[in-house]
Amino acid sequence: IIELKHSWSRDVAKALHQVFKMSEFRPKQLEAIDETLAGKDVFVLMPTGGGKSLCYQLPAIIQNGKTRGVTVVISPLLALMQDQVNHLVEWGIPAMAVTGDLNASQRNFAFEELSTREPRLRLLYVTPEMLSKSDKMREVIDSLYNRKLLARFVVDEAHCVSQWGHDFRPDYVLIGNYKRQYPGIPFMALTATANKRVQVDIMANLHIKGCLTLSSSFNRPNLFYSVRKKGADPISEIFSIIDARYSGKCGIIYCRSKANCEKVADELQLKYNIKAAYYHAGLAKEDRRRIQTDWQNGKVQVIVATIAFGMGIDKPDVRFVIHFTFPDSIESYYQETGRAGRDGLPSTCVLFYNYKEKKTFVKFIQEGDGSKVHKDMLLENLERVIQFCENTNDCRRKLVLSYFGENFNSNLCHKNCDNCLGRENKVFSDVDYSEVSIKIIKMARSIICSGRKVTMLQIVDLIKGSKAKKVQQSGDMSHEYFGCGKDLKKDDVIKLLRLLVNKKVLSEQTESNFRRVLVSYLILGPNSTKVENGFMKISIRLSNTKPK
Ligand code: ADP
Ligand code: ZN
Repeated sequence: IIELKHSWSRDVAKALHQVFKMSEFRPKQLEAIDETLAGKDVFVLMPTGGGKSLCYQLPAIIQNGKTRGVTVVISPLLALMQDQVNHLVEWGIPAMAVTGDLNASQRNFAFEELSTREPRLRLLYVTPEMLSKSDKMREVIDSLYNRKLLARFVVDEAHCVSQWGHDFRPDYVLIGNYKRQYPGIPFMALTATANKRVQVDIMANLHIKGCLTLSSSFNRPNLFYSVRKKGADPISEIFSIIDARYSGKCGIIYCRSKANCEKVADELQLKYNIKAAYYHAGLAKEDRRRIQTDWQNGKVQVIVATIAFGMGIDKPDVRFVIHFTFPDSIESYYQETGRAGRDGLPSTCVLFYNYKEKKTFVKFIQEGDGSKVHKDMLLENLERVIQFCENTNDCRRKLVLSYFGENFNSNLCHKNCDNCLGRENKVFSDVDYSEVSIKIIKMARSIICSGRKVTMLQIVDLIKGSKAKKVQQSGDMSHEYFGCGKDLKKDDVIKLLRLLVNKKVLSEQTESNFRRVLVSYLILGPNSTKVENGFMKISIRLSNTKPK
């Protein structure tokens, strides 16, 4: 039974079944549709694969008032636009993408169609660059507006208007002007970005503060999350993962460097006979396009890519996403793993973690462009990822979702992450390490004050009271705290030092040494005195396998 809340409710239900051939709405879709058909602004937050497109595609074909207008969809991705237009045309909905790729006659065709008295076109997809640069395009939109044929503006991938988003686009900011330029035209902004700061920024930049925000849970129940220590031969581990469960199935492997991309792809191909290809910014545009198509049709099974790949990829049956190197933020981790399992079937996400790779990231950030504030934000993002990787206790879903401000009950994970899966066989205990931490701080301080530099591993040796020759030569064996942690496990001391860095008790400074190798030296962080004065406690949660 359809509840007829609005004059358009019957048409909406009919369109869902007959045009889109779907049986029911997913959470929040109908609310979004009703809000925009009521002429109001609305902000839609849904995870990738959540069904954002329907929220604006369906109302675009509903007659509301005397005439049906044209819905203008602003989207940053050509591939995504073309994909959507193809779907719409298959469903019998007149839609078109006007992009820089069209030639003059194709573009004129679109402009003429839009200038007719009653355009048949329901959805017009444009890039923000097209809107800001093409006078003709703006003229056409002005004319639609003046003739009351402009139904609404849809801002897809709306995080692009925010500087804090992962894909800021200057031309997106100009969209905010349309709110004033075209009074009365409702806006619908959509994004899969769950970060609160970005959300606030989007609403401010688009001038839609105070509009209805519809957000569905960002939990992706079908994804299995796990983090593994990156061993000596991660590629053979990757092969085992594929071979055990996903033989012949599609997946993505993310690397940071082009060289790694090529190495991993080649080795999978040559040594393990897996149809793999690499994809990075160093390839020619045609090559990239070809590889993406091959992967989308299943000709290539595994794509090994830098982050340049995947924005707007709509491949439903990606069975695994592997991070060969850790991602630069929890946000990226969520987006990248989110490309797996869009069809809802079980899929796996494995992150290969090696703390040592951190310094390359840090160096990259420090030497990159941007203000100090911006760099601090990037470093903070990185620390959050490291904290996530180092955590071997808490539910991964809970950790990821808490980053987005969503409170997730880890019982609902149903053992679909490594930590939840392993929990049954573990006993946990929180151990207070404040005292050892104070000794570490004092020891680091005295070494630094004597004008030398010290690395994390050197401190580990000193705490453990190592008898190695290099330690003897340093002369630090006579320090009063030398060997103060000799009963601790080496791994636990490392864990403690990483935690101290994470909590800004210590800081790492990365430099190239005389051999041009990146080395991270420890210095004292802003929280060191808090720990020394007892205002900040340091404890580590240690787990042991339950004795059988
Ligand atoms: P998003 O843009 O949020 O990443 P999409 O709009 O591409 O997600 O939708 C993801 C998939 O879910 C698509 O294949 C779409 O057809 C499907 N879908 C969306 N809404 C529904 C629905 N109400 N019923 C069934 N399938 C749906
Ligand atoms: Zn879990």
